[in-house]
Amino acid sequence: MPKFNVSGDSNRIAGNDYHEYRGPEPCPCCEQRYLTAGRVYCRHCEAQFEQERIRQELAKKQHQKRNSALRIAKVLAGFMILGLVLNWVGPEFLRTAGLVLTTICAFTIMLISKIFK
Ligand SMILES: [Zn+2]
Repeated sequence: MPKFNVSGDSNRIAGNDYHEYRGPEPCPCCEQRYLTAGRVYCRHCEAQFEQERIRQELAKKQHQKRNSALRIAKVLAGFMILGLVLNWVGPEFLRTAGLVLTTICAFTIMLISKIFK
């Protein structure tokens, strides 16, 4: 007859030690897959996070490119107006140059808006 402690510790019933078995924990994100040791999320969810991170990084780069293109286009628009002003009120020898400047700037702005639409 095994000895029973009234306080409950070290009690053995039918010769078995009882300890709580904790199985693998489910992923806190999808709650469908189990975590392997040392993981916070399952492989599937981590791959998804990584994909999302790459997608956001690409979008950010695209946004930066568009912003710099817009800045260049604004400067070109300024030169376009300058060319027009030169053509209208500038000295005789600068009138054609002003028109050429305006034309070149207009074409470049068109190109930029085609590339970064
Ligand atoms: Zn998961």
